[in-house]
Amino acid sequence: MKVLVAVKRVVDYNVKVRVKSDNSGVDIANVKMSMNPFDEIAIEEAVRLREKGLVTEVIAVSCGVTQCQETLRTAMAIGADRAILVETTQELQPLAVAKLLKALMDKEQPGLVILGKQAIDDDCNQTGQMLAALADLPQATFASKVEVADGKAIVTREVDGGLETIAVNLPAIITTDLRLNEPRYVTLPNIMKAKKKQLDVFKPEDLGVDVVPRIKTLKVSEPPKRSAGIKVPDVATLVDKLKNVAKVI
Ligand code: AMP
Repeated sequence: MKVLVAVKRVVDYNVKVRVKSDNSGVDIANVKMSMNPFDEIAIEEAVRLREKGLVTEVIAVSCGVTQCQETLRTAMAIGADRAILVETTQELQPLAVAKLLKALMDKEQPGLVILGKQAIDDDCNQTGQMLAALADLPQATFASKVEVADGKAIVTREVDGGLETIAVNLPAIITTDLRLNEPRYVTLPNIMKAKKKQLDVFKPEDLGVDVVPRIKTLKVSEPPKRSAGIKVPDVATLVDKLKNVAKVI
C-alpha cells in the first residue's frame, strides 16, 4: 500500500510575522521557511507505518514555489521514499490544493493520504476535509493514534470533549494532531541520501487543475494591542472591577 503525505512550506513557527505596510498580507521576504509542523508529524507517521511493514511506499507531495523542493528533501530525509512537487507561483488556497492532491491520488492510487490538521500560516484546517469530499472517501481528522489492520484504519481523534476512536475503511484521508508522534531528528547521512531520491515536478496544468483563487483577501491588519493588566488586592475588588469596569459579569 502506498501512502501520500502532503507537506506545506510555511513561515517557520519561531518567526514573528509582520503585516505589509499596504495591508495586503504578511511579509515573507527573507523569512525562515520550514515544513509545516503537523506535516512533519504526518511524514513521521507514514514512515513508521512503512517500518512496521504495513506500507510499501511513502510519497511526499508539496504544492507551491520551486523552493518547496527543500521541504520535500527534508521529508525524504525523515524517510519518504520519493516526492512530487506541483510547481506554481500562484497563491494556493485549500480548495486548489485539495484538487491537486485528488489529481495525484487518481495517478498514484494510494491506500492512505495523510495531511496535517492545519497549516500554521493560513490556519485554515480545510484541505484534508475538502480532499475527502472530492475523493468521496472516509476521513479521520485530528488523529492522535493510528493503527492500520485488515483494510481499515483505527484512528483515535482529539475532539472537544476528549478522545474519540473510529474505524475507517481504506483508502481514507487522515489529518494529524500534535500528539500523534514526535518526529525524529533528521541525520546528516539521511540528508545526503535524500538528495539522491526521486523528485518529480508537475505543473497544475499537467494535472488538469485550475488553481485560480476563489477567495479574495480584502485586508490584513495587526490585532489591536492589548493594554497592560493590573493587580487587585482581593477577590472583592476583582469582582467589583469585573462588574463595574470591565462589565463582563
Ligand atoms: P490548511 O487546510 O491550509 O490548514 O492545511 C491543512 C494541511 O493540508 C496541511 O497541514 C498540509 O498537509 C496540506 N496542505 C495545505 N497546503 C498545502 C500545500 N501548498 N502543499 C502541500 N500540502 C498542503
